[in-house]
Amino acid sequence: AQPVLAVVGRPNVGKSTLVNRILGRREAVVQDVPGVTRDRVAYDAYWGGRRFTLLDTGGWEPDATGLQAAVAAQAELAMAAADAVLLVIDASVGATATDEAVSKVLRRSKKPVLLAANKVDDDRLLADTASLWSLGLGEPHPVSALHGRSSGDLLDAIVKAL
Ligand code: GDP
Ligand code: MG
Repeated sequence: AQPVLAVVGRPNVGKSTLVNRILGRREAVVQDVPGVTRDRVAYDAYWGGRRFTLLDTGGWEPDATGLQAAVAAQAELAMAAADAVLLVIDASVGATATDEAVSKVLRRSKKPVLLAANKVDDDRLLADTASLWSLGLGEPHPVSALHGRSSGDLLDAIVKAL
């Protein structure tokens, strides 16, 4: 079976947009309203000669109440179901308490964890992303899922980890 990458993170950080960017097509449902349940989470992806399954865990967000617990549970499920986990952070907001809590869960993972700093649409936010090293998940990969900026570099890192 092909390796599985689970994409986790708070609602509205751009997980589904990033999934679509990786797929090169619009399949994951992008929502401005957080917490909407989607019926499909698994997608076939392809990069650098490698096939892998992408899990968009957005549908695992039960509701906006108890967000921290919900996102932590999402991370636990992702660690169990996937071969590697991609945590997406909204770089325009920075690391929130929820991001720190989910990072703490993911640091226990025996599987590779990658960190994407999304919404880096231009150079202004680039310098700030260095502060995300503090999450203890290794190198933050700055990307703009919306514009495609640096998504190739992130994909290179993903297939290396899988
Ligand atoms: P999810 O809840 O994490 O799956 O987030 P979505 O993919 O549904 O995106 C939430 C909102 O963030 C949408 O309005 C997207 O258009 C927006 N968004 C996603 N990626 C980017 C990005 O790289 N830059 C900017 N400026 N907005 C983004
Ligand atoms: Mg989503």
